[in-house]
Formats: sequence, C-alpha cells, structure tokens
Amino acid sequence: MKFSLVADTLKYMENTTKRLELTQYLVDLFKLTPPDIISKVVYLLQGKLRPDHEGVEIGIAEKIAIKALSKSSGISVAKIENKYKDIGDFGQATAQILEKKTQTTFLSQDITVERVYDTLYKISELRGTRSQDMKMKYIFSLLNDATPIEAGFIVKIITSNLRLGIADYTILDALAIAFTGSKENRPVLEHAYNVCSDLGKVAEAVANNGTESLKDFQVEMFSPIRPMLAERVKSPQEAHEKMGKEIAAEYKLDGERVQIHVQDNKIILYSRSLENITNYYPDIVENISKSLDTKKVILEAEIVAINEDTGEFLPFQELMHRRRKYKIAKAVQEYPVTVNFFDVLYINGKSCLDSPYKERRKILEKIVKEDSFAKVIPMTITHTDDEVEDILENAINSGCEGLMLKQLDGTYRAGARGSNWLKLKREYRNELGDSLDLVIVGAFYGKGRRTGRYGALLLSAYDRKTDTFPSLCKVGTGFTDENLDQFYQILSDKITIKKDPRIQSGLEADVWFEPEVVIEIVASEITLSPIHKVAQDKIRKGSGLALRFPKFTGRIRFEKTSENATSIDEIVILYNNQKRVIQDEKRPNFKNM
Ligand code: ATP
Repeated sequence: MKFSLVADTLKYMENTTKRLELTQYLVDLFKLTPPDIISKVVYLLQGKLRPDHEGVEIGIAEKIAIKALSKSSGISVAKIENKYKDIGDFGQATAQILEKKTQTTFLSQDITVERVYDTLYKISELRGTRSQDMKMKYIFSLLNDATPIEAGFIVKIITSNLRLGIADYTILDALAIAFTGSKENRPVLEHAYNVCSDLGKVAEAVANNGTESLKDFQVEMFSPIRPMLAERVKSPQEAHEKMGKEIAAEYKLDGERVQIHVQDNKIILYSRSLENITNYYPDIVENISKSLDTKKVILEAEIVAINEDTGEFLPFQELMHRRRKYKIAKAVQEYPVTVNFFDVLYINGKSCLDSPYKERRKILEKIVKEDSFAKVIPMTITHTDDEVEDILENAINSGCEGLMLKQLDGTYRAGARGSNWLKLKREYRNELGDSLDLVIVGAFYGKGRRTGRYGALLLSAYDRKTDTFPSLCKVGTGFTDENLDQFYQILSDKITIKKDPRIQSGLEADVWFEPEVVIEIVASEITLSPIHKVAQDKIRKGSGLALRFPKFTGRIRFEKTSENATSIDEIVILYNNQKRVIQDEKRPNFKNM
C-alpha cells in the first residue's frame, strides 16, 4: 500500500478539528487498507509502532532527523533549523525544504506503508555506539524516496511530533463504520480493546472477520487489561441507593495501581495507564512469587510506600522517588514499598472478568500468602450506613483516602467507570467532596517571586464524546517553589507553537502545551462561567463550568494519561450534587479562575 494514502489522510486531518470529519477520513483510509497491514496503519496514525505497553520507542532526536534532512536536501543544518523556527512545525518545514529539491530531481520510487513501518521498526531496535549512524542512514533513505508531504509526516512520526491527538475512541468508531457498516457496533470492538489494550490487534481482527472474531477475544498473559474504574459517591446512603443493602467495603489506599502478570519466573508490572513499570520495582519482581500460591496469574494491587520502622503507610508522593532510570537499587533501599492486592483477573488459563466480585475475592484470599511485603486489602461486608461510616472513619484514621465500595455480584468491567465500584472519600480540604484530575493545557508567566517561571496554569477536563479538552480553571495556588521549578522543567518539553485544536478556552494563555500532564486539584465549588468551556451550553446557554478557588494538591498524576483526566460527565454530576444551586449572577467575579 502506498504511504501517500496515509500521508494524504494525515494532511486532511491536520486541517480539521471536527470529530465527524476526522472519523470519515479514517473510514476512507481503512477501507483502502489491506487487512494484513491495517495494524501498522493504525499504529502509525498514532505515531507509534506497537501498543504502549510493549515499550517499542522510535525515539529519534530532532537533531539527527535534521542532519538526515540536510544530507538528503543538500541544505545546511543551520538553514533547516531556521526554517523550522520560522514555521514552527517540523513536518511543514521538511516538506517545504524538500519541495525545492523535487523540482530539480526525479523521484525514484513510491514508498509503501510496509517500507516506512519496517524501517522505523529497525530504527527502534538499534542500540549501542554505532546506532546513531545507522539511524541516520535509514532516515536518509526514506527521505530520499519520499515526496515532500510524505517526508514531512515521516519526520513528525520519528521525532514524536505527530500531534493529531486521534483518540482511541475515534479510531474504534472509524473501524466499526469501515468494517461493520455502523458505529453501533463500536461496543463489540471496545470490549475486545478493553481486554487486550491493542488497537492494532482489534483492527486486524475486525478487518479480517468483522465482529465475529472480536467476541472471542480472551484475556492473555502479558497483554494488559484496561482497568476498571469507580464512580464517586458522597455518602453511605448514596452508595446503598446504588448498590442495595449488602456492600463490600475495602480501604482505598493512596498509592500506585499496578496490574501484575506472573507466569513462572516471568513477571511484568503495568501501571494504571498500562505502561510497563517493571523496572521501577525490582523488589516486587524478586519477592512476589513467594507470596503467591500459584504460578500463572494476573492480579491487581496498590503499591504503597511505607515507613519500615513503624509500618505506617506514606503518602503517594513518596513513590515518585522510585520513578527513575538510574540508581534504582538505592531507591529500593530508601523508599520501601508494600504490595496490597485487591483483585484477580485471570488464573491458570481462565479469565475471572465475568466472575462476580465475591468469587474473585475468594480466589484472591486463597492464593495470596500474606507477609510484611504482600497483603490482601482487608474487606468487610456491610449492611447499614452506620457500618460504612465507621469503616470510613477507621480508613481515614489509618491514613487512607477513603473507601472503595464493591458490588458483591459485580463482574470486572474492563475499561469502564461504572457503579460496580464506588469510591467514597472524605476530603476535609475540599468542599466539592472530591479532588479532580485535570490536564495542564497552558500557562501564564509569573511576576514577582515567580518571574522566570509560570505563575499560573490553565487546566482542562476531558470530553470523551468530542475528544476535546475544554478549560475548567486557571490555578495559581498550592504550588511550592520546588513545584514551580518542577513544572517549568516538565512542561518545557510540551510547549507547542500553536494551540492544540482540541483545547477550548476563552482565555489566551502565554504558552500552550500538548495536553499530556495531569495534576490533582481541589476546589470549593463549581460555578457557571462565561470563560471556561466545560459543559458549554449544557447547564445554561452561553455558559460553561469553572472551579471556584482551585488549589493544587501537590500531586502530579504521572500514572494518568490526559484521556484519564476527570471527564465532563463527572464534573456535571459534581455540579448537580452541590448542595446549593449556584446562580452565576450572584457570584462576585471570575478573577480567581
Ligand atoms: P482516584 O483519583 O480517586 O485515585 P482514579 O481515577 O485513579 O481515582 P478510580 O477508579 O476513580 O481511579 O479509583 C480507584 C483507584 O483507587 C484505583 O485506580 C486504585 O489505584 C486505587 N485503590 C486503592 N485501594 C483500592 C481498592 N481497595 N480497590 C480498588 N482500587 C483501589
């Protein structure tokens, strides 16, 4: 298949933000794609070579790509850098540079999707001292044979600059339309995706055999399952209304969620966003088998940092110290952890996803041999509001965030936020009843002590239906000096020249970012706003929703992707749950937002 078909589609997609149009471009492309390479097309569209959990990185520094481009075009590195600076988009700069060259030379041959993919794959496998030269050679050969537009997208893919931000759900919609004739079939595709977390694999199956083959998608070892999520409730009464009388209550520990796949000596840990995090936790890899009475199993647990002397749980932030590439052994010594199991998803060849919670829990209790390192999170079956209230009190006193309440007959609904699991927190700091996880989309330069750093950040929620990031607040409080330095550093990699088309806000930030970094925010209430765009026109025509008195909690949610940020629907529920209905005209002003 000609790569130009993919490049043309990417070009059309760059010029629109309308989801229906984006989907239609994808549908047209998928219909033209032979089934045996559809997985490659799906990965390339997202700027990847394989699903994230496999950790295959293309990872070419812009410098190397510029050198290859210089060699291919005969234009100096300095000139290319200047052109890139002027235009602000590496792909367009590349296309313009090569445009001149193609006018004077003959193109050699059409490049194919297979060739682009296979070359990039080879590049991803290169290691060692001579690898830079080899990478250059591979890129040079692709750029030499590509048309300017194709070359533009190739450099964007290899330097991770392809920022079309096509959400998984848009691709699932397009696959459903292209291969089953209707978007209505998306749930079947989504089910398969939730079980295997591999869009390429789902695409290949549906392109070859329609929805039939998707129904048989099974849990497999070392292919992570998309995690089940909980809905918020504000009180035990609300939980009982949703779940009935009998409820299992577990402590909600404040750590890092992990999905552990164990098969004999092979152990892989996946984070909440299904990234392979095995390297950060060699202590878990070394010790976990001793705590398990089985050799082939997929479990879920919360990793929590502890004070080894007192056995006390430490706050989530302590785990940040384990997220490092070097000196891991030292970090293991200095920041010990415990593994606290709460679910089993697969055991000895059988999926447990369709088993009710109470059965999964029985299996879990049977296979985990508890010791000081590994525990099963305690569970109590409750019947009354008072019982839930008592356990919540104990949980908070033991340093937990609150409770996870679980439906005894509830199955494990992979990838879904539903009422089989409810979370009940008591946030004293926060009159809203819960914190929100918001995406940093922009920043405003600081003044006074904050000069040279960002003084405030613009934050957005995620709208899954439209795949956009409407803004919800501007936040300038809760930051320590260390936080401000940290943000300046983390965000410097995310700056974009133009605002990402998926960001919607009535505010003009000084700097715009790729919507990637998620942070935790508390606030006093949600109000109507003429500036911010969450749930625009849904509650009142001409208004969106905004947070009043937002404050950073100190927690960067590095384990969440921007699509895991708090959703519009959750914010609307929180707004409707507020005791007082807020009338925006009575609010003094929007100065703090
Ligand atoms: P939050 O921001 O409240 O942690 P979340 O969006 O990460 O929420 P939720 O589904 O809303 O995820 O809450 C469940 C999270 O709570 C899990 O991701 C897990 O990390 C954590 N957790 C702690 N204790 C438990 C438990 N006993 N059962 C399930 N999850 C638990």
